[in-house]
Amino acid sequence: MELLAFALAGLVLLWGGVLLAFARPLVARWREPVLRQPVLVIESDDWGAGPLEQADALQALASLLRRVHDRSGRRALMTLGVVLEVPDGPRVAASGCREYHACTLADARFAAVRQAIQAGVADGVFVPQLHGQCHYWPPALLAAARLDEGVRAWLTAAEPGPTEVLPAALQTRWVDAARLPAAALPAAAIAAAVAEECANYASIFGTPPKVAVATTFVWTEAVEEAWARCGVEAVVSPGARATGRDAQGRPAGVDRAMLSGQRARAGQIYLVRDVYFEPVRGHAPQQLVAGLLARARQGRACLVETHRFNFLQARDASLAALEAGLAAALAACPALRFATPLELARALRERDPAWVDTRWRPRLAAWRARLDEIPRFRRAARLSGLQFPLALLRGER
Ligand SMILES: [Zn+2]
Repeated sequence: MELLAFALAGLVLLWGGVLLAFARPLVARWREPVLRQPVLVIESDDWGAGPLEQADALQALASLLRRVHDRSGRRALMTLGVVLEVPDGPRVAASGCREYHACTLADARFAAVRQAIQAGVADGVFVPQLHGQCHYWPPALLAAARLDEGVRAWLTAAEPGPTEVLPAALQTRWVDAARLPAAALPAAAIAAAVAEECANYASIFGTPPKVAVATTFVWTEAVEEAWARCGVEAVVSPGARATGRDAQGRPAGVDRAMLSGQRARAGQIYLVRDVYFEPVRGHAPQQLVAGLLARARQGRACLVETHRFNFLQARDASLAALEAGLAAALAACPALRFATPLELARALRERDPAWVDTRWRPRLAAWRARLDEIPRFRRAARLSGLQFPLALLRGER
């Protein structure tokens, strides 16, 4: 009997030790709000100034989204991460790649693209958010063009090409990636660039951006501070902030991780976008559904990344995949609601009781579902036997 008591005490001590060792991520996931209902947000970056065939793709997307509703009758929606300018190739070429000149989304040549976006916004199926004035840092692109023939051809093309074909490091706006590893930008240059792009965004959409998503998910605290000064309330992230590009051009310098609902030092609410649905890369509709169900178990919103290139490179197949994915999501999760990132961020910030569950049982079940993502915790729980008491927390949410 005594032996059993000792063994039990030892086990409890061991479990306590494991919990203590992972206290920070465990507590963060307990504090993270738990949503009452599954929420789905389709997020699509790179739209705006760029190839003119976007206009047709946007019209087709809008008509697809208009046909899909959640249980409350709300239409499906897609965020558009908007880019506000592309290079004016002939003028850059005339300068011998010494001067940068831009063609902005306000230019007459993009009228059809603007109209397609604005028609979707008016119908509530498109929700614009700031991706950047351009999908690069212009001085870095100019410098790279003087060294690299491919970049030079892209930068000086008569018709704006897709930024997706540039080297990945150069698609990052908030570093100087002309040479690798990339160099940080001066805070004053960032502040001026953000102020300018927010003003340009406002001149097209009538209001400054409230939600921002950095190109290639590389940005810094200085960027967040500048966004805050312009009124940005929410920052879309992949769950970590990379601040640079390494010698191979890969995102690097991760200086913080974040969960949805956590606050940036500059005050914004972070949202995590971590479900990937890129039909051109072979992602099937089931992938969207699996992501939604997993996030619903975790009491989290499902933010799905599906870039513009899907709808330019293989428009009809990607539209069909998206429509099938939305239909399958509604079938698998009838309680699902469509929402904008701003609505979601505000609900998380205010702990709005209409959105956020404060009951113990659903919170425990969601917390349990979140633990498997903590690196090494799963293994520690298995080896220590902690997984058995934790399994008791599993339940229907
Ligand atoms: Zn992008």
